[in-house]
Amino acid sequence: MMGKLLYEGYSSGKYDFAVREKFAQANIYAKNSQSILSKATGFINVYDFTLNPYRGCQYGCSYCYAAAFSPNSKMRDDWGKWVIVKANAAELLEKELVKWYQSNSRSPSIYMSSVTDPYQPIEAQEKLTRQLLEIMIIYKPKLVIQTRSPMITRDIDLLQRIKHLRINMSILTGSERVRKDFEPMSPSIKARLHAVKKIKQQIDPWKGYVPKISVTVTPLLPTFPEEQADFINSLAVADRVVIQEFHAQNQGRSLIASTRQEALTLTKKYAWWYDNEQQSYHQFKQQLHELLTGVEIKEGKEGFTYE
Ligand code: SF4
Repeated sequence: MMGKLLYEGYSSGKYDFAVREKFAQANIYAKNSQSILSKATGFINVYDFTLNPYRGCQYGCSYCYAAAFSPNSKMRDDWGKWVIVKANAAELLEKELVKWYQSNSRSPSIYMSSVTDPYQPIEAQEKLTRQLLEIMIIYKPKLVIQTRSPMITRDIDLLQRIKHLRINMSILTGSERVRKDFEPMSPSIKARLHAVKKIKQQIDPWKGYVPKISVTVTPLLPTFPEEQADFINSLAVADRVVIQEFHAQNQGRSLIASTRQEALTLTKKYAWWYDNEQQSYHQFKQQLHELLTGVEIKEGKEGFTYE
């Protein structure tokens, strides 16, 4: 639905997007990108590249640092209400992987995605991530998929054809009430756990490659005490569990990733957890070690490695 030539409200002179359609609560734009693989830096610098099929994210999580990288301040304030589809992502990926192999004999490692969710709602229609997986099957990179969406199960037929694959499913709390406060537009905890089980159950190791699966509890959000043990036990479905403390990073510095005000306000509602956050974190971590004896438990950056 190519309606308007310029997007009302978000034009800043430098960034003018054509509104293509409305999907769920978000305005959707499409744009060709210059490149699709970006050099991985910071927290995930052990990878060669990050790959973000979309810019913006419909899940609009309250704590999302990626909002800081929005094209302009209005879009940053409206994080979750817009998505830019990188229309030529598959074509670019193929070109860039061909180029990689012209000067490298090893496979590249790719982290998908660092500032968007590759399985956010619009993916159901666009199938951009699915197209990228088809390219990955041919060019065989070492791939990590970071998502909080059960939609990933749609692609089990392709996932099982990728030899070096780790799936990181984000689940930040064991309490639905907390999930709805901090990330009201995201899938339920139950649906995410079910997706992990489904991937494990449906891939026959004789016919396909079973991916490594992590649950990333990063950053750890409050879990009500009466729900904590059940939540931790439910994480036994993963091979690895990664935890990380909630940090209020770089507040007030607009060009640097930071925790959004929305999440900081919520920490007041959950004062029973945040007033002594370190203790809450350590108590959670201790119970994790007590209850999940057969699962690899890692903290922070080291939990995000492929191996
Ligand atoms: S799913 Fe990830 S990228 Fe999307 S809003 Fe939430 S934290 Fe940000």
